[in-house]
Amino acid sequence: MARIKATADEVELEGDYGMVAGLEVTCAKCGHTVEVFGTSDASERRGGVMLAEDCPRNERNFYVVYGPGADDASPIEYPGKPKKRSLL
Ligand SMILES: [Zn+2]
Repeated sequence: MARIKATADEVELEGDYGMVAGLEVTCAKCGHTVEVFGTSDASERRGGVMLAEDCPRNERNFYVVYGPGADDASPIEYPGKPKKRSLL
């Protein structure tokens, strides 16, 4: 299972009672997007899950979602490097 970067942008979505704040989560690999209601961390995670289920490439990926303003986050390295430990 690969770790894929996804980015979340705040958007206005049409809800049952008018426009509500939501997120458009974009797969950085294939550009596929999903929309979720709400802008919380839980919404970001939900977007990641939806991307995993929805990815047109039918891959089993794990999505790490970067929220709005987190675009500068360093790209995900896979496999992850073990953290260096400082020894005494
Ligand atoms: Zn994808």
